[in-house]
Amino acid sequence: ILEMKGIKKRFSGEEILKGIDLSCKEGEVLSIIGPSGSGKSTLLRIATFLENADSGTIIYDGKTVFQREAQPESLRKGGDSIGWDTANRQQAKALFGLVFQNFNLFPHWTVLENIIDPLIHVQKKEKSFAVEKGRALLERMGLSDKEGQYPCSLSGGQKQRVAIARALALEPKILFFDEPTSALDPELTGEVLRLIRSLKDERMAMVIVTHEMNFAREISDEVLFMAEGEVLCRGSSEAVFTAENERLQSFLGKIQ
Ligand code: ATP
Ligand code: MG
Repeated sequence: ILEMKGIKKRFSGEEILKGIDLSCKEGEVLSIIGPSGSGKSTLLRIATFLENADSGTIIYDGKTVFQREAQPESLRKGGDSIGWDTANRQQAKALFGLVFQNFNLFPHWTVLENIIDPLIHVQKKEKSFAVEKGRALLERMGLSDKEGQYPCSLSGGQKQRVAIARALALEPKILFFDEPTSALDPELTGEVLRLIRSLKDERMAMVIVTHEMNFAREISDEVLFMAEGEVLCRGSSEAVFTAENERLQSFLGKIQ
């Protein structure tokens, strides 16, 4: 469902991504691990169109959304629009959902309003339809009694489940998570990880950036280990976690 090839990105002259390839098929879970600053979030931001790659290819559902050749800065004209296929980009936007570390809920809206907002304003659904769907999602999240509350009155784990419900409301084919549990204490982490596991059981394709190594090991069909903008190891979860790569083992040693 997603394929990225040769993704490169510089920030103020420094090469942050040095040509990353990845793919995520339907029903598959891809985890991205690696030290801070290795470019994991930047890669997710590029996959979800929040950032432009300098070069590389992005394909969703077999359609090329972005393709830009590497070329010197001086030859580049057309700025940020260059390389995008506008129609394919618009279609692809409906395919993915994104969940961040910091929940990104609107504080002055109730839980239910947070969930139904994209249904009404992005998908142009009737309010009654949106409310019904929002309530069903809240029930699934075990948060039915919270529908009229404001995000500030929820625990971190509850906020993150609302954020996930908000993403699921649009029925994405692939979900991106950027450190979904790193703002949570261990107890609350468990409830969010359980929810992500249940999505895997439903064969939701997911790309997960995480520091939860046990979780990554257990849930992933494929793992990428990134450091300094490069993929140093990739493969099945068993293969990567037991790989004899010095950089990877030192990273795993530090984190556990
Ligand atoms: P972490 O595990 O800490 O979240 P990360 O792997 O997600 O790290 P990124 O956030 O992708 O790393 O950042 C990679 C590098 O790119 C960092 O050195 C960061 O300072 C730099 N960077 C990211 N975004 C920008 C930006 N908008 N402008 C300039 N530099 C940036
Ligand atoms: Mg990050």
